[in-house]
Amino acid sequence: MTARFGFDVVARDEAARCGRLQLAHGDVDTPAFMPVGTRGAVRGVTADELESIGTQIVLANTYHLHLRPSAELVARRGGLHAFMGWTRPILTDSGGYQVFSLAERRTLGEDGVVFHSHLDGSRHLLTPERAVDIQARLGSDVAMMLDECPSWPATPAELDAAVERTLRWARRGRDRFLALAAGGDPDVARPTPGQAQFGIVQGGTDKARRDRSVAGTLAVGFEAYAIGGLSVGEPVEAMYEITGHTAAQLPADRPRYLMGTGMPDDLVESVARGIDLFDCVLPTRNARNGQLFTPRGPISIKNARYAEDDRPIDPGCRCPTCKRYSRAYLRYLFVAGEMNAATLNTLHNLHFYLDTMRQIREAIKFGTFAKFRKAFLETYSRQPRSLDD
Ligand SMILES: [Zn+2]
Repeated sequence: MTARFGFDVVARDEAARCGRLQLAHGDVDTPAFMPVGTRGAVRGVTADELESIGTQIVLANTYHLHLRPSAELVARRGGLHAFMGWTRPILTDSGGYQVFSLAERRTLGEDGVVFHSHLDGSRHLLTPERAVDIQARLGSDVAMMLDECPSWPATPAELDAAVERTLRWARRGRDRFLALAAGGDPDVARPTPGQAQFGIVQGGTDKARRDRSVAGTLAVGFEAYAIGGLSVGEPVEAMYEITGHTAAQLPADRPRYLMGTGMPDDLVESVARGIDLFDCVLPTRNARNGQLFTPRGPISIKNARYAEDDRPIDPGCRCPTCKRYSRAYLRYLFVAGEMNAATLNTLHNLHFYLDTMRQIREAIKFGTFAKFRKAFLETYSRQPRSLDD
C-alpha cells in the first residue's frame, strides 16, 4: 500500500481534465465513475465481475455498515477491503446523507445528529468526530467529512445554517482525522494508514453561499474536495450552473468529486465543467428494475417487443452480458424474476457507465472532448426508447 495521496492531471481540454488519482490501494484514472456498494456489496455482482469490467474504485455506505455489521467488526476482520474481498480503492461516505434521508426520528444539533436505526430502532449519535472514527475503522481509501445536506428547496435561513454548521463540522472532522493519523487514539484501529479525507462544499443553488462554503472549506484544508447538495431535486440547468461555478474555485491540482450524480449526460456535462469523480445508484438500481442504458438512451427490457429479439442489448457493447446473451433471454429472465437478471443487467449498465468514462478520458487526451460531448448529447435521449426505430 502506498501511504501518500496524489493526483496528476495528465491532459486538459478546456475545463475538462484527465488525471490519475493515487490512493492507498491503487490508482484511479479520472474522470472516474464509482459503482455504489451500499452495504459493502454492489448488489448482484461479485468483486471478480466488478474487476472484469474495469472497476477501479467503489463507494460503500458508512451508515449501513455502521449499523450492520458495525465498523468495529469490520476493523477486527482487517478492514473493509479484506472483509469484502476487494483489493482496489474504496471511498466511504460519512453516513450523513443516509441519516438525513433514511433514519427515523432524527434530531439535528450542534454536536451532531441523533437518529434511530431503520433496522431495529436503536438510538445512535453521529458527530463529525464519530464519522471519522467509523471510516477509519472501515479502512476506506477516501473518507468523507460529515456535512449537513439540506433538503431542496431550502429557505435562505436553512441554507445559511447548513453552510455554517458544515464549516464548523469540517474543522472538527479534520482535527479528529489529523489526530488519528498522528496515532492519537489506540482505541481506533486504522486498517488503511494512507487514508485520505475529502471536504464537502454546500450552499444549494446560491452562488454567494457556494463561494462562502468553498472559502471556508479550503481554509480548513483537505486532501481533496467534493460538491454536495446537488442532484437533490433542483432543475438540471441550475445543477450544471452551480457545478461549473463551484468547480472553477476548487484547487486545480486536486480531484473534484460531484456527489450523487447522475444520468449519463450529466456525467459528460459535469466533466466539461471540471469534475473528476462521480458516484450514483442509477446504473445499478435501474438495472434491477429492467432499465438498461445504451448510447441512444435507456430501454426497458421487460417490453414485449423484445420477447423474440435475438440481438444483444447493444450490438456495439463489449460487456459480458452483450457478448453472450440476447434481449429475448434477458427479457425472459426479468419477467420470470430470475436473479441472474439483476446480475446481467447490472454488469451491462455498469460497463456502459465505465466505458463512457473511458471514452471521455480518451477524448480529453486527444483534444477531441468538445466533439465527443456534442455527438454524445445529440445521440443520447433521457426518455426510454425502443431499439427498433
Ligand atoms: Zn452490454
